[in-house]
Amino acid sequence: MMRIIDELRDAGSIAISGHNRPDGDCVGSVMGLYLYLKKELPGVLIDAYLERPADIFGCIDHIEEIKSDFNTDQVYDAFIALDTVPDRMGGAEEIYLRARKKINIDHHISNPGHGDFSIVEPERSSTAELLYELMNPEKIDGEIARAIYIGIIHDTGVLRYSNTSPRTLQIAAELIKFGFDFSQLIEETFFERTYRQTQIMGRAVLESMLLLDGRCIVSVVSRRMMEFYRVTSQDLDGIVNQLLSVRGVDCALFMHETGTQEYKVSMRSNGRVDVAAVAVRFGGGGHVRAAGCTMNGTYRDCITNLCELIEEQLRDE
Ligand code: 5GP
Ligand code: MN
Repeated sequence: MMRIIDELRDAGSIAISGHNRPDGDCVGSVMGLYLYLKKELPGVLIDAYLERPADIFGCIDHIEEIKSDFNTDQVYDAFIALDTVPDRMGGAEEIYLRARKKINIDHHISNPGHGDFSIVEPERSSTAELLYELMNPEKIDGEIARAIYIGIIHDTGVLRYSNTSPRTLQIAAELIKFGFDFSQLIEETFFERTYRQTQIMGRAVLESMLLLDGRCIVSVVSRRMMEFYRVTSQDLDGIVNQLLSVRGVDCALFMHETGTQEYKVSMRSNGRVDVAAVAVRFGGGGHVRAAGCTMNGTYRDCITNLCELIEEQLRDE
């Protein structure tokens, strides 16, 4: 496989970015590549742009160097988009559009390819795993390894979702050879929750409803509820997975209000429903078993529209 460096030979300035509301794979990939290129290309300007990552990612070396202010006139020679399509980049999209060379590295099945150079491998567990393959293993150090490991851990639910391949496990094995405390890393970045996060999860579970003969579970969190528990969107990660673990459920929908009659929808499936196909119909994307989109209207209308497509799939099954 080609090495990522080959595409960057003549670049004097490089920007790296991912998607808005960055998750573990997005943050781990951006930081892994950032640390790698800083080391590999001394003297080159390298900037990483992302919405402010959640505090749990504070354990990644140099994370404070991420730029969350997208107001810049800089025209970069190369822009590397990780784990995303342009319209999900938020404020970084303009920086991407201005860049001289656009590179797209992703594992979302819904990414149609974009920019001047595109690598999309949907069979990869995570963008972090794909990045590892594009790096020279001899140039990877402990800090880069930790960032990549976090990406893989988060997108595979700690190496347990079906996107985990033998290769994923081999790479994880190579990474933990660096000797970092992976157990603590998993606990702190993946399982641990603040008390408020735990409370709102409890509330969302309590108020969930079963639809489609118990094969679909739905829960909605309003802005008022989020204010009451003093949580932000980032505090809601993990709720949709919790809903999917109910026996008999093939598909879980979790929605939270992001604006007036606007909802961010997270979908999970056990494989019987292709939630990426559902998300794409509403302008979103993702993977067969995990996808999302933003919808407008009352939450009841959103649920009705989503369930119609899910029911169609369950009927055709
Ligand atoms: P989550 O529910 O955890 O936010 O996202 C699940 C999966 O769907 C992730 O792989 C995420 O990247 C993708 N995804 C979530 N929301 C969107 C969206 O609005 N657009 C696209 N293209 N992908 C999304
Ligand atoms: Mn990902």
